[in-house]
Amino acid sequence: MAGGEKKQSLSPKEIIHHKFGVKASYRIEQVHVSSRSNCLYRCHLQLPDFSVVSNVFKRKKDAELSAAELALEKLGIHPQDDDITVEQAWDDIVERIKYIFSDEFLSSDHHPLGSHLRATLLRDGERHGSVPLSIIAAFDAKINSRCKVINPSVDQNPILAMSYVMKAAAKLSDYIVVSPHLAALRRKNPYPPAIVEALAKRGESIKVEAVYIQCATNGKEVVDPVTLDISSGRYYLDIIAEKLGLKDGSQLIISRTFDKTAAGYECRVYSAIPKLNPSDKSSKAYGKRPVDEEEQSSHFKNPWNAKASSACGQDIHGDAIVAALGYSWRSHHLVEHDDVTLKSFYRICCGMSPNGIYKFSRQALIAATLPFSFTTKSNWRGPLPREMLSIFCRQQQLAEPVFTISTSPVKPLSETLRSFKKLKDSESNDGNNQCVNEYAGSDDSFNHYNSKDEEELPVLESGYRCGVKILSKSLQDLVLDCSPGSFYEKESHAIQNAALKALTWFGSLFDDLDTDPEQPRCYTKGQMNWMFTRNVMIKGKFPSSKRYEEPEFESKTKTMDMDRKPKRVQTIPNGSLVSISYSVSVEVEADFWGRTGKCLRELIESNEEIEFEVGVGSMNPHLESVVTQMSVGQYACFITNMPAEGLVLADASDTARTRSLLSKLAAGLEYNVHLLGVKGPTEKRVESVFFKPPLSKQRVEYAVKLIKESSAASTLVDFGCGSGSLLESLLEVPTSLQTIVGVDISEKALARAAKMVDSKLNKGACNLKTIRLYDGSILEFDSRLHGIDIATCLEVIEHMEEDEAFQFGKTVLTLFRPKLLIVSTPNYEYNKILHKSSLYHSKDKSMSQRSKFRNHEHKFEWTRAQFNHWASKLAKSHNYSVEFSGVGGSGKVDPGFASQIAVFKRKSFTEVKKVSTQPYKVVWEWTRAQGDKKN
Ligand code: SAH
Ligand code: MG
Repeated sequence: MAGGEKKQSLSPKEIIHHKFGVKASYRIEQVHVSSRSNCLYRCHLQLPDFSVVSNVFKRKKDAELSAAELALEKLGIHPQDDDITVEQAWDDIVERIKYIFSDEFLSSDHHPLGSHLRATLLRDGERHGSVPLSIIAAFDAKINSRCKVINPSVDQNPILAMSYVMKAAAKLSDYIVVSPHLAALRRKNPYPPAIVEALAKRGESIKVEAVYIQCATNGKEVVDPVTLDISSGRYYLDIIAEKLGLKDGSQLIISRTFDKTAAGYECRVYSAIPKLNPSDKSSKAYGKRPVDEEEQSSHFKNPWNAKASSACGQDIHGDAIVAALGYSWRSHHLVEHDDVTLKSFYRICCGMSPNGIYKFSRQALIAATLPFSFTTKSNWRGPLPREMLSIFCRQQQLAEPVFTISTSPVKPLSETLRSFKKLKDSESNDGNNQCVNEYAGSDDSFNHYNSKDEEELPVLESGYRCGVKILSKSLQDLVLDCSPGSFYEKESHAIQNAALKALTWFGSLFDDLDTDPEQPRCYTKGQMNWMFTRNVMIKGKFPSSKRYEEPEFESKTKTMDMDRKPKRVQTIPNGSLVSISYSVSVEVEADFWGRTGKCLRELIESNEEIEFEVGVGSMNPHLESVVTQMSVGQYACFITNMPAEGLVLADASDTARTRSLLSKLAAGLEYNVHLLGVKGPTEKRVESVFFKPPLSKQRVEYAVKLIKESSAASTLVDFGCGSGSLLESLLEVPTSLQTIVGVDISEKALARAAKMVDSKLNKGACNLKTIRLYDGSILEFDSRLHGIDIATCLEVIEHMEEDEAFQFGKTVLTLFRPKLLIVSTPNYEYNKILHKSSLYHSKDKSMSQRSKFRNHEHKFEWTRAQFNHWASKLAKSHNYSVEFSGVGGSGKVDPGFASQIAVFKRKSFTEVKKVSTQPYKVVWEWTRAQGDKKN
């Protein structure tokens, strides 16, 4: 909770990250120095154009830092000061202005600025040329970059850049006229008549669609289409100015480009210059970074134009026009242009918010909403949160987000539990559960729905936490600093969730397009009827430099979560993947005042099939609430009040028609939904919520313990090794094993396993000499693994058909004949405990048999009796002993362990006839003697 301390400068690593993102890759190399047990580290940093190698350090961190510093030195970046001094920047601007108004520039250069100049020279009686300040500031790259040196916040504030151009021009009083009444620069001496006359008028006549946003005093903007008629070579800025009721183009202020039309033309917002302050009262500001200018720009007499501002991510005041046109580099006269329709304008607005980015990626503007939790990659749809945050930052002129990962627990468990308890107390006091997310375990979505009626969740007190910092583009202002909250088992989940929190927080600033927090959302039982009023599209204002501290951030997200919590009877459990088809139409009673009940209807959105995860907020709450009460195959139809008009208009194909429908009082949204299918919640998530450590970890630990105890064993095969969780543990602990082998049929899983093993190879103190990964089916025998010491098969048999599980048992014990075989599989009886929770409580009879299993990939799940039967029979007929055990819960009380385990021991070994068969394919191999050898 940092209160006072402000301006933070970036570390060298952060600057590298900001500049290169994923294109910067660090590689740590271990350096062994003589026989000392401590090893040292060196860091290689690879950048797109070159690489550097650090010196040797005791800590990896220091090696990385040193590499980053070396790279910055090479790049000529000095974290504190820039290369160009402010004085130099001013001189450059002066120099450049002089060139722009030279005869040479006018006639030779294809620079778009030249086209502006020429266009103004075609005005009647104009001989001096005249270029609006906003044009110079916006279109000249050199001037633009030098203005940034003077003050990095010019990006957010075009007026500031204009005032710099003006000040610089004042130094050129012999050449340039700076009129105090016109925001344009003119040449003092007229251009030679020959040059001007050569600029023959072109007959080019262009009609461009644009959007006019009228900034009404009541705070509501009126958005209308407008046609810009740029005929007979007139200066297009003059035409835009006229539409806005201004004298000419020099009274315009031009936003940055913020979007491209389908044809690739840049959209900008044009509005009237507010009172510009040309009285150069502070010539001492020349050469120094001015302090008061930012203040100055906030004294506008025009009202703030929320819609225009949200479209371009800059502050816009008064009426504005959004258009896509400009001069090209290719030709002197051609105005490149494209239409900006109402629909495209609303889509731009929508796409500028984090929620909008998500909605677009799902192609479901009405149906989808930005989830509040990232669970697994496979359940997440569209670009991952981290990528979305990058997109958003770029759009909003913010620097690339910087993530910081920490692994060690920040507070001890006891303290965490204490705060959790405290929280529960306070919860009963004020009747809300605002703070649950901060403390509860790895998965916010569960906590969100569970906090009241479930037993206290165990807390994940180790793993990865991730914080995210976002700075302004100039790296001068900290916009958001979100310190890590929850722990996650996986680093990538910690990062994605941090990104998501940042997005959610930014989303709340934009006052989500489809929710109005000021309006109570009511849900009347039995009938779909939410109380909504039409709201203005975006009321939030994007803060460009205000700093926010974590507590505020936390409470914001929480409030949003609470809003999303409707009281309902949910039959499809959270965590399920649901697949629906749906359509949404705007519906209006044709004769509202009379008695005829005929409806006018306009389809605005539909999807043949869309899949989403229940309970993470990835669908709009009405739709999700209805769907989770349905059964597979069912249809439902319901009506809600209208969401924000802008959202509907961004979605509709016939904007004009839809707009006229929306103007009727009784408009509503009709949803038609068909539930196509449901897949149960994923096993892994449920397991990691119910068991600490997660059940998967407990299984591996159990197997490792047995492996350690069988001290003479030197070879092991893990049948169905998956991503290699067991192999990973065996790399970390010393055992008697020398060779470990993983077999799986999934190429993807094997690739993950190879990657994991590769990254862990040199870490642990294991004695391993050979590690091998085979691609093959464990239903088949491979003679290379005959007589292996230990075989493991954790949570694999249930992925086969039952008869195959029998076949597998037979193959292993007849042909491979390991000394020790460990087999684990879910205990079906335990599911009733898992299912009791709201995560799982499925009362829906129509759900298939399989959804009663923990994972929809399971072909069967056995009771204790079934598993006993399988294992005992198998052991008996192959001369093995078998003992039963398990992990999760207790073996002594019903319903037994969550995961049941059978441990087979060979009683005698008789060499069977040698059959040589090698169906398994080596996909990855490592041996200590020769170092790495990979395929
Ligand atoms: N043992 C791992 C993975 C369990 S998931 C763990 O405990 O984490 C089940 C794995 O069995 C999957 O990776 C799947 O690809 C694999 N599998 C299923 N049938 C198989 C078969 N016939 N041969 C080899 N692997 C199989
Ligand atoms: Mg399984």
